[in-house]
Amino acid sequence: MPGGRVPAGLVESVGSRLVCMRGTAASPSRCVALRGRIGEAVACAIYEFRPGACRDFAPLAAVGRGDEACNEARRRHHLPPLVPAPVPFSA
Ligand code: SF4
Repeated sequence: MPGGRVPAGLVESVGSRLVCMRGTAASPSRCVALRGRIGEAVACAIYEFRPGACRDFAPLAAVGRGDEACNEARRRHHLPPLVPAPVPFSA
């Protein structure tokens, strides 16, 4: 399973045994690895090294298929939910 290779300087401790991406425990939260402007264009600066929680989150969002967690995150930023593209009909 890939993951677990997040650069140590990008995480902060949460309790004695857990870490999170630096900035995600703040309010409002913003991951230190997030580049760009939310609602315009964003990207993960460590995409291939992102932690497991990020890999599990809305895995099809990049192809326009969000899930409820994805849509909740979008609501917090006043963005509309992702609507899946229609599947082409084939006979
Ligand atoms: S996918 Fe990247 S930018 Fe988004 S929370 Fe995870 S590490 Fe941060």
